[in-house]
Amino acid sequence: MTTRRIAIIGTGVIGAMTAWQLSRRGAEVLAFDAHSPGHDRGASAGESRIFRTAYKEGANYVPLLRRSGDLWRDLERATGTGLLTLCGGLTLGSAGHPDVQAVQRCAREHGLAHEILGAHEVAKRFPQHTADEDEVAVFDPAAGVLRPEPAVQAALHAAVDAGATLLPHHPVHEVAETAAGWRITSEGRHFDVDHVVFAPGPWAPRLEPLRGLPVEVRMITACWFAARDQAAHRPDRLPIAIRRHPEAAFSCFPSLDGVSIKIVPHHLGFPVVEGPDALPRTAAPEFARAASAAAARLLPGVVPHPIRITTYAEGFTPDDHALLGALPGVRSATVMTGFSGHGFKLAPVFGEIGADLVLTGGTGHDIGHLDPSRFGA
Ligand SMILES: Cc1cc2nc3c(=O)[nH]c(=O)nc-3n(C[C@H](O)[C@H](O)[C@H](O)COP(=O)(O)OP(=O)(O)OC[C@H]3O[C@@H](n4cnc5c(N)ncnc54)[C@H](O)[C@@H]3O)c2cc1C
Repeated sequence: MTTRRIAIIGTGVIGAMTAWQLSRRGAEVLAFDAHSPGHDRGASAGESRIFRTAYKEGANYVPLLRRSGDLWRDLERATGTGLLTLCGGLTLGSAGHPDVQAVQRCAREHGLAHEILGAHEVAKRFPQHTADEDEVAVFDPAAGVLRPEPAVQAALHAAVDAGATLLPHHPVHEVAETAAGWRITSEGRHFDVDHVVFAPGPWAPRLEPLRGLPVEVRMITACWFAARDQAAHRPDRLPIAIRRHPEAAFSCFPSLDGVSIKIVPHHLGFPVVEGPDALPRTAAPEFARAASAAAARLLPGVVPHPIRITTYAEGFTPDDHALLGALPGVRSATVMTGFSGHGFKLAPVFGEIGADLVLTGGTGHDIGHLDPSRFGA
C-alpha cells in the first residue's frame, strides 16, 4: 500500500504522536487542529498524567506500555525535553479491592517488579497518605508522571522536524470522500489527501464520518491542594497513586508546580456533557466540598481546600477501551478516539500503531481489543 498525503484531524497527544511517527517514516503529513498545540480545551492538558506498567485495565496492555515507555524516551532524546519522571506508583486500598487485585495479578502474570506494602509500611515510607489498618499498597517502581502540554509540543516539534505541516487554528468543517481519497475543508480552503486519520478526542461525535461510533463525552475534574511540606510532595518522595477507599477514590500526582499536588476524584463521577465546547469552567460547591473531604480524610500533608479546580473533556466507549483501527464502512481512513481516561501514557505506541495502519494496512501490535467495529458500528 502506498500512501502519499495524509491528513490528521486533531493534534492532541494522539494526533501529535501519529504525526511524529508518520512523518519520521517519510509520509507527507498535514495536521489540523481547531486550537493551539497543547491547549486546555480537550483531553491532553492539566499539568500531569500517570504512567503505569502493572495495568489494572488488562494485562494485554503490558507489551504496549513497554513499547510506549521506550518511545517516550525516544521523544525526550529527539527533542531534548524531559517528559516522563519515574517516581514509582502506588495502588492503595483494601487487599480485596478489585483494582488492587488486578494490579497484582498483572504484575505477577508479566513478571513485573512490584512490592506489596502493609499499612504500617505505607505510613513509614509514604506518610503523605493515610492508610487504614486493613489496607495495602502495591508499589510499581516503573510508574511515573508525564507532562502533557510539553509532550504534545515535543511530538509536534519532532513531526515538523521530520517534514510535517501543522495547521493550528484550522477547524475542519467537512471531510468528504472523493474518487481518489478525501477532501478536507477548513476555513474556506480545500485540501485533497489520500488518507485521513481521525484523532479528534472528545469531539468525535461532532465529525460526520464518526457519528455512528459509540463515544460518549464526559467531564473529568482535577483539583490542586497546597502541600504543607513542599519537599515531601515532590516526585522524588511522592509516587503517583491510585487511591481506592470506601469514602473516596482518586488518582494523585506529586507536586510539579512547587506549590500543590493534584488529585482527580473518581468517586464523584465523570458526568456526561454535550461536548467539550459545553464544558462548565467552574465546579459546583458540592463538588469542591466533597473533594475537600476526600483530601482531609486521606492526604494529611495538604491544606484540604482546593486552590485550583479545572475541568477537561474525554471521550469514553462502552467498555472503556479505545477505538483504534480502520474506520468501518469507508476507504482509506483510520480512527483513533475514545481513550476513556487512560490514553495518555499509551499515546506514543498508539501513534506508532496509527502509522503502521496508514502505511501498511496492519500492525504487529496486538490491538484486537481496540477494534472500532467491535460494537457493531
Ligand atoms: C483530566 C484527565 C485526566 C487523565 N488522566 C490520565 C492519566 O493519568 N493517564 C493516562 O494515561 N491518561 C489519562 N487521561 C486520558 C488521556 O489524557 C486522554 O486519553 C488523551 O489525552 C486523549 O488525547 P486525544 O488526542 O485523543 O484528545 P484531545 O487531546 O482532546 O485532542 C483532540 C484534538 O482534536 C482537535 N479537534 C477536534 N475536532 C476537530 C476538528 N473538527 N478540526 C480540527 N481539530 C479538531 C481538538 O482541538 C483537540 O486538540 C486523562 C484524561 C483527562 C481528561
